[in-house]
Amino acid sequence: MDEKIKIIALDFVNVFLVKAGEGFVLIDTGMPQHWERLEKELVSAGCSPGNLKLVVITHGDIDHIGNCAKLQEKYKVKVAMHEADAFMAEGGVSPKRKVRTLAAKIRILFFRLFRKKITFQKFKPDILFKEERDLKEYGLDAKIINLPGHTQGSLGILTAKGDFFAGDTLTNSKKPDIAVYVDNFPELKNSIEKLKRLNIGKVYPGHGKVFLFSDLKIKA
Ligand SMILES: [Zn+2]
Repeated sequence: MDEKIKIIALDFVNVFLVKAGEGFVLIDTGMPQHWERLEKELVSAGCSPGNLKLVVITHGDIDHIGNCAKLQEKYKVKVAMHEADAFMAEGGVSPKRKVRTLAAKIRILFFRLFRKKITFQKFKPDILFKEERDLKEYGLDAKIINLPGHTQGSLGILTAKGDFFAGDTLTNSKKPDIAVYVDNFPELKNSIEKLKRLNIGKVYPGHGKVFLFSDLKIKA
């Protein structure tokens, strides 16, 4: 199961290259400044413009969509994301983000200072998800799970084997936890409840190490 998932850790953010039949599906894309490293990792895995079938974006934050434009350009690949986050592909920023912890508040301040120096290349998503659906036509036995909360258009990808790509709905920067940055907390809670009803084994978070869903201790 694991050998089919390549974890590409780009400093603080994770990108996942998943073997999908004869080709690959890429989940998230890192920050714009990660492009060279991302491309090198794709090449070393045997992923080329011919066999990258789809890029799925878990949500519209810049550390996840930073290289979509380049991938569309160089790999001629379709980029899919939830329609509720599509405005972020145009450079829009989620307006209501709340921060749960002090450490995360400090991190976001630094990030904002740093962000001014980042050149983000806008893009137009090729596929906009609304309903949950499977990814079989892209060779991946997995489905999209809508998980509003971190952002309105956050989604996860759950494979038939129980591997779960969580985006930032779940995180493991320090310990397995639910999103630290939250647009809508009641919605996030509903999304977490939804996850508990699914058959999730390993969690591949947008930030931090892979963990077991059973190791997530959720505060009521
Ligand atoms: Zn993130």
